Amino acid sequence: MTFLDTPRPTSTPVGGPQLAQERKLVTSIPGPKSRALSQRKAQAVSAGVGITLPVYVVAAGGGVVVDVDGNSLIDLGSGIAVTGVGNSAPRVVAAVAAQLAQFTHTCFTVAPYDSYIEVAEALNRLTPGDHEKRSVLFNSGAEAVENAVKIARHFTGRQAVVAFDHAYHGRTNLTMGLTAKNQPYKNGFGPFAPEVYRAPMSYPLRDGGLDGVVAANRAISQIEKQIGASNLAAIIIEPIQGEGGFIVPAQGFLATLLAWCRANEVIFIADEIQTGFARTGHMFACEHEGIVPDLICTAKGIAGGLPLSAVTGRADIMDSPQAGGLGGTYGGNPLACAAALATIDTYESDHLVERAVAIGAILNERLGALAATDSRIIEVRGRGAMIAIELVDPATGEPDAALTGRVIAAAHAQGVILLGCGTYGNVIRFLPPLSIPDHLLLEGLQVIADALAETLAVA
Ligand SMILES: *Cc1c(COP(=O)(O)O)cnc(C)c1O
Repeated sequence: MTFLDTPRPTSTPVGGPQLAQERKLVTSIPGPKSRALSQRKAQAVSAGVGITLPVYVVAAGGGVVVDVDGNSLIDLGSGIAVTGVGNSAPRVVAAVAAQLAQFTHTCFTVAPYDSYIEVAEALNRLTPGDHEKRSVLFNSGAEAVENAVKIARHFTGRQAVVAFDHAYHGRTNLTMGLTAKNQPYKNGFGPFAPEVYRAPMSYPLRDGGLDGVVAANRAISQIEKQIGASNLAAIIIEPIQGEGGFIVPAQGFLATLLAWCRANEVIFIADEIQTGFARTGHMFACEHEGIVPDLICTAKGIAGGLPLSAVTGRADIMDSPQAGGLGGTYGGNPLACAAALATIDTYESDHLVERAVAIGAILNERLGALAATDSRIIEVRGRGAMIAIELVDPATGEPDAALTGRVIAAAHAQGVILLGCGTYGNVIRFLPPLSIPDHLLLEGLQVIADALAETLAVA
């Protein structure tokens, strides 16, 4: 027996890019060890924590996730667009390990350290616009959104905030209010924060292909009539909506809203928490339309899986709050900052923007070919490595959430981690790690093609 075929103890799996890049099922999904853990979960963890695919993970890297039963699954979700650089990416592992040995926490607002500044400098450099910027770091996406609203209110002296139909901005009290969808995010959790208003989105598939400028003017008219620009601190929008269904607004929608904000001294906040960091084939999705937001919220893809988020924006706005008004115990934790610097280095050094474009070409080609022969796929949309298909009943054109659920369940059973989304629950989204090898991406897409064909056979 050589060293290589010595079974590795499951307590010390070798993760990261060293994992075999293969789909391999050795049990049904979920396997017996995962099913046992699901029972323990039910006894120990709040039922309010839902699980998409109950396989319990021991290692992940490249384009695979390995579970306790020894199954190796293809990852088309990146832990919801977080591990863009891959799980346990080598530079991230090295940087976090080195930081871990130095110090783990002082609280930046008590006794600071330089990596926080370096992350802020990187964000100021990478985000759209070459104006003077400042950044502030937090832990979660929702926390970044909350703080962007705080900053905009402080700077403008106004209170109202506008979010859009189909928006998702988080699960804290203010961000629940900004989020559009009741189930499961808001139901029973009110009351919600005051002075939050909703405006109509541009959703070309479902608004009759309304021109982007016309759709923006519809929203602006509603804002002027129902709120009044002089009461409005900010509008917040995802340049491509994530949970809402990977909705790409019509060309001109964002630019028209931004121009109106500028003319009325309303802060334009781009929530790039899901779209940020190379995902869409630009470092930030605003770049596709040359949009320069006043404030930009980032999180998910920022630190290779460590919890970190940020608000970056115009120096005059960001310097408005009083010292002590922004912060938090863990915001910009040194391990997360070390991870972010290594993650950003990886996006740039490994040309992951270009990789996202290449992944997008594969997704569009394969999914487009499926859509050409399957009238249930009403649209393939998105940008770069953020692509979705929307599924309908071809007889009525109505959203088909049941079909969507069946396809996702079939993919899971075949060892492909796949996520749904959409206000109507009828969108399948593709968010592979940018470290996925082509052969796994193609194999994952074949599994989904087979799953779609299977649902036709039994229909
Ligand atoms: C995930 C997400 C959030 C919330 O981020 P958390 O880290 O889960 O709080 C906010 N906005 C968008 C667009 C997101 O995708």
